[in-house]
Amino acid sequence: SDDLKGKVALITGANKGIGYEIARQLGSRGATVLIGARDIERGEEASNKLRSSQIDAKAVQLNVTAQQTIDSTAQQIEREFGKLDILVNNAGIAIDRVPPSQLDIEKLRETYETNVFGVFAVTKAMLPLLKKSTAGRIVNISSGLGSLTQNSDPNYEFAEMKLLAYNSSKTAVNALTILFAGELKDTPIKVNAADPGFTATDINQHRGYRTVEQGATAAIKLATLPNDGFSGGFFDENGVVPW
Ligand code: NAD
Repeated sequence: SDDLKGKVALITGANKGIGYEIARQLGSRGATVLIGARDIERGEEASNKLRSSQIDAKAVQLNVTAQQTIDSTAQQIEREFGKLDILVNNAGIAIDRVPPSQLDIEKLRETYETNVFGVFAVTKAMLPLLKKSTAGRIVNISSGLGSLTQNSDPNYEFAEMKLLAYNSSKTAVNALTILFAGELKDTPIKVNAADPGFTATDINQHRGYRTVEQGATAAIKLATLPNDGFSGGFFDENGVVPW
């Protein structure tokens, strides 16, 4: 179908994994998809692959921890499209695999730089463009591991205690989602967080049992929410889940 024709979507970290799949699905419905990639050559490879299947894709150099690349991408979108309809904050890292007491503070800092400050900086820079859309959508890719309700479950897997930096960064993403949604509640823009579930990608090879197609489902729903849809929520593919 081409129900997203005329929409412009920016997906961060879209050269591979769940981000690439989100771009592929939005693009196959007619959206123009901007493949945000830290390494522009990787972005070009991904966008060439998408273009070979009739998707209107274009690579943009975007390192979510480098403000100047964020600003130049925003300027480029302004110049070429004059608006942004969909922003998917997908770029993320998981680099801690040790118990909390052994975590190196630099790893915590690095994780927050990408997963938290990156989402904040890209959202802030893209907001003026999203406000020029008649139906702006912001989708933050969070994780069930960031949810306080799940983390306080007594059956919570011990292994996850080795992801202090990652889990707490996603808790921050959830908070940021609610607060931006609150600020934007009187605009057409909707801001929600998506839980992909454990998906087989480079970040999660050991127990990613879902396909990237399944992992992208919640994000696609949120990126294409109707105008009376929810804002400020946390969703998996089955609907809203408690924070
Ligand atoms: P992945 O490692 O395949 O993809 C991560 C992407 O982020 C890559 O394209 C990488 O280049 C990009 N990235 C990292 N740092 C960046 C930076 N500074 N600037 C720009 N891009 C950067 O992993 P994935 O599973 O596809 O992860 C995508 C998102 O889904 C992440 O936010 C991750 O936390 C989240 N997530 C994944 C799972 C899972 O099980 N795979 C579960 C829950 C949430």
